[in-house]
Order: sequence, then C-alpha cells, then structure tokens
Amino acid sequence: MAVLNVLKMGNPLLRKISTPVGEELKTPDFQQTIDNMIATMRFQDGAGIAAPQVGILKRVFTMEVIQNHRYPNKTPFPLYVAINPEIEVIDNTRVDSWEGCLSIPNIRGKLKRYKRILFTATDRHGNSFQEELSDFAAIVAQHELDHLNGTLLIDRMDSMETLTFQEEYDKYWL
Ligand code: ZN
Repeated sequence: MAVLNVLKMGNPLLRKISTPVGEELKTPDFQQTIDNMIATMRFQDGAGIAAPQVGILKRVFTMEVIQNHRYPNKTPFPLYVAINPEIEVIDNTRVDSWEGCLSIPNIRGKLKRYKRILFTATDRHGNSFQEELSDFAAIVAQHELDHLNGTLLIDRMDSMETLTFQEEYDKYWL
C-alpha cells in the first residue's frame, strides 16, 4: 500500500466528471488503487476520499470514520468502498454541515446536505449493495459523490461568510 499525493483545489482534474468503472475493477492494478486510496484517506485523517482526488477520473470513493480527531463529535461508520455509487434522496430534510476536504486543506465551510439517503453502489468485488444512510455517513457519501461530478464543497455553500480556516473553526464554531 502506498499513500498517494492528494490533488488540491485549482487542479483541473478536480473539476472533471469521472467515468464509470467497468471490467478493470477486477484487475490487480485497480485493486491496488483502492488499497492506496484507503491508505491515503487514513493517513490524512479524511472521512472519505474520491478517486479524482488522487488523479484518477473513475467513479469510486472510499469512506470511513472510526476515531477521527478531525471529526470528534460525529457518529462513526465502517469502511465503504463504493464503485459507481448512486444516491437517492428519501427525505427532503436538509441539515447544516460544516465540511472540510483533503483537497482544500485547513478550510471549513458550512453548507446543507440531505439527512437521509438511499445509497447504492458496487463493492470492490463487484457485488452490488444498497443501504440507507443517515447523518454523518449520508453527508460524507454526498460529499464524495460530488467529487465524481467535479463538484467541491464551496460550490454548495449558500454564502462565503462561513468559509473558515481550521484554526478559526476550532476557536469560534466547534
Ligand atoms: Zn472532498
């Protein structure tokens, strides 16, 4: 496993639409990429990481929150490897979400996300799964899916007034 370089905002690849994963899922190369994404996410203390963030324009992301000091008050959820993920909104309730992004280091911003979603994807072995996600897991899935469509958290903010450096977030908003 290797920790990969994470692309930062301004890199044009972060604004591209990723293409579906096909037969390459089963190849050792692709499986290695998934392992590297997991290693990178954990190394950077990210709640999730999407393939475009490591320069691969394929529809895959990983997410996991066990014990994460970047998100101390959030409900943990297990590791997901999501291939060709899709989200269906099952409840129009939206909640405030203070988010960060490994591609926008040391910045937080407040936006709105759906509270409950139906999450459908294929796992790393090619088996499809469907699960209802709520709260933080639902928020992270929405954030990571956005990456597959070239969307960043700042695009979802209604106002830039809450664009905040991490240090100020800890001081004033935590
Ligand atoms: Zn992100």
